[in-house]
Amino acid sequence: IKRKDVVPLNKKLCVFLSLIIFTLYLSACSGENAAGNLPKIGVCLYKYDDTYISTVRQALEKDLEGKAILYLNDGKGDQGTQNDQIDLLIQKSVDVLLVNIVDVGAAQTIVDKAKTADIPIIFFNREPDESVIKSYDKARFIGTNAKDAGVIQGEIITRAWEKGNCDKNGDGIMQYVMLKGEPDNPEAVARTEWSIKTVEDSGIKTEELGLQVCNWDTETANRAMEAWLSKFGDKIEFVVSNNDSMAQGAIAALQSSNYNKGDSEKFIPVVGVDATDAAKELIAKGYMSGSVIQDGNAMAEALIAVALNVYNGKDFLEGTEYEYDETGIAVRIPYKPYEGTNE
Ligand code: CA
Repeated sequence: IKRKDVVPLNKKLCVFLSLIIFTLYLSACSGENAAGNLPKIGVCLYKYDDTYISTVRQALEKDLEGKAILYLNDGKGDQGTQNDQIDLLIQKSVDVLLVNIVDVGAAQTIVDKAKTADIPIIFFNREPDESVIKSYDKARFIGTNAKDAGVIQGEIITRAWEKGNCDKNGDGIMQYVMLKGEPDNPEAVARTEWSIKTVEDSGIKTEELGLQVCNWDTETANRAMEAWLSKFGDKIEFVVSNNDSMAQGAIAALQSSNYNKGDSEKFIPVVGVDATDAAKELIAKGYMSGSVIQDGNAMAEALIAVALNVYNGKDFLEGTEYEYDETGIAVRIPYKPYEGTNE
């Protein structure tokens, strides 16, 4: 009797299990069908641990939810890792590759991989050589314009100057010191030139009291600022820095000499670039006047527009507001000022 009872139970269990498996199979199939209609976008980021890149990543995830299947990859600052990730994405037959390359020197290898697999590739943020992009008709670049950051710095300086209290000696000329990143780095050169050029274009005369190359470094900038303070003291009316790390060093030196501690009498405005967390804090406290930020949301929007165009068989920029620069293969996303009131 016991045995007879057991057999039907097993049969019932069998049917029941089959039903479950069949249902799972059906749902898996339908899931795959639904997914099959969405574009598959492979995204390679040079590293997640970067404020700007993480803004781009979050915006991509948010804006593409339900519209595309995103394959996100953290290159962890290693080109070998990123190469492997790109190989895997090509194996998955993604429809388009968005690549924030670790080492621009490896760009040709990656373009060749994409070209062989006939997958369109859009590089962004870190800029490969123009010739590399041009070696594949389905390759493009989306980045910023080095000049832009300097121009926006100049606009921040001009606004601060026009508010008054900056021209301490009342000679109508802005006496400033410049903290430069590197001697020949294109970003450093453009920021140094265009920040001051923009100020002068707005009708303010300038006089450079000192310029020091500080290799983007806080400590080096700190020493440079200390030396300037002992040499010029109150004659310095503005500190212009190619980035926030150096601006931070300058502010530390200023504060050691009792400047920029919240007392409006003892204040020398400092402006940087990057809108780092440290700079945002200094700006919030009124110790620093402003910075320049790369707009991660605007970058993500451009990437999405271009990637979806490519997926739909359209031309890269068709129906978008974007235009190529003089290279014919690169789109430039503008920087934004950061003065503590935005974001
Ligand atoms: Ca003056």
